[in-house]
Amino acid sequence: MSILITGGTVVTTEGTMEADVLIEGEQIAAVFTPDASSEVVVDEVIDATDMYVIPGGIDGHTHMEMPFGGTFSVDTFETGTKAAAWGGTTTIIDFAVQPKGSTLLATLDKWHEKADGNCAIDYGFHMIVSDVNDVTLKEMDTCVAAGVTSFKMFMAYPGVFYATDGEILLAMQQARRTGATIMMHAENGIAIDQLVAQAIAAGRTDPVYHGLTRPPELEGEATNRAIALAKVAECPLYIVHLSAAHALEAVAEARDHGQNVFAETCPQYLYLSMDDLARPNFEGAKFVCSPPLRTPEHSAALWRGLRTNDLSVVSTDHCPFCFKEQKELGRGDFAKIPNGIPGVEHRMDLLHQGVVAGEITLSRWVEICSTTPARMFGLYPRKGTIAAGADADIVIYNPTARQTLSVATHHMNVDYSAYEGMEITGKVAVTISRGRVIIADGEFRGSAGHGNFLSRDLNQYLI
Ligand SMILES: [Zn+2]
Repeated sequence: MSILITGGTVVTTEGTMEADVLIEGEQIAAVFTPDASSEVVVDEVIDATDMYVIPGGIDGHTHMEMPFGGTFSVDTFETGTKAAAWGGTTTIIDFAVQPKGSTLLATLDKWHEKADGNCAIDYGFHMIVSDVNDVTLKEMDTCVAAGVTSFKMFMAYPGVFYATDGEILLAMQQARRTGATIMMHAENGIAIDQLVAQAIAAGRTDPVYHGLTRPPELEGEATNRAIALAKVAECPLYIVHLSAAHALEAVAEARDHGQNVFAETCPQYLYLSMDDLARPNFEGAKFVCSPPLRTPEHSAALWRGLRTNDLSVVSTDHCPFCFKEQKELGRGDFAKIPNGIPGVEHRMDLLHQGVVAGEITLSRWVEICSTTPARMFGLYPRKGTIAAGADADIVIYNPTARQTLSVATHHMNVDYSAYEGMEITGKVAVTISRGRVIIADGEFRGSAGHGNFLSRDLNQYLI
């Protein structure tokens, strides 16, 4: 099967160019100046006039079918990857979650079982390390050899995922031996738990107190601590879902000093705020995630961080829980609200609003949504660019189409939209995954099982 995409504007980190893209089989065969492709004979021609032709999005942070607080996030690998495809994302990297007492390899097997044969787009895994002991430390090396080259740890959630500073140091030292990256949920969970207990005891149980008991200072403190531990262990560090200016300052300082420290933020921290958490009638529960939504000054700082590259990536932390029966578990006690916001479908569109508003350039949009995640997670140049030899993961994006985000029209398996009613300029016209058109003409044409597991190399930013 060969496809020629004609008439579009190819956008990469290098800039934009009028070019035609030839796909043969699962890969990009050539990128032509428009006239040079006139002799090419192909099975299918796709007209991309007035559209952008961009590398498919790479969402480096999703939680499909994730156990949390006695329930599971509601997108399966099938529904979640289909929704991703609708929104122009062609690769996800999901977090395998080691239950305490289990092993990393058993966990990896379990995640393969959940995902294999069910994904509409390609996928990889990070590993969440919940138990640090001699066995799991050794298993980290085996995971790296199996293409899982990043490990997430938590300074939050005591009693669940929380790791002590000593455990974090040990895991970082282990990661250093193979060049693996440690990813950190950086919030001071020990202090936060005291604030949470005080709030509940005082009868402050509404969702907004989820935000008020997780102040930005405690994200900043934990981020500083993670950076210091990574420096001592000489290990690459990637701060996940950075939400606070305090944490961004710590990351910027470490980067200025040449340390291998990287950070991502998420669309919810750019577009939603503490005001959403404070919505009446328990509606704030829809916006409970950790770290919490912040005040608008933090969002402004995050946009600046995206421009200066102190924030290199935007991922979604897609972790959907329905309002009915799941978020409602926390009525009368915000600490029991499952943490997470659905978003895998909307990342490309939401960040495109940053282009429309002049916050970031077109090339930067592609960079933070696709090219940098590909390099950060060891997938480049197979993924993350439009060039001969790369996988034909391509999105044809209509930059002038209008759409309104809503639960009535989204494809995620969740009963609300965090962006209900938000008007967007731009929309995916066609999504191509490894040479196969999976979204076109407002239809899903892919299939569960088309997506392949991606064995990943190390972080490609390390020297
Ligand atoms: Zn997460």
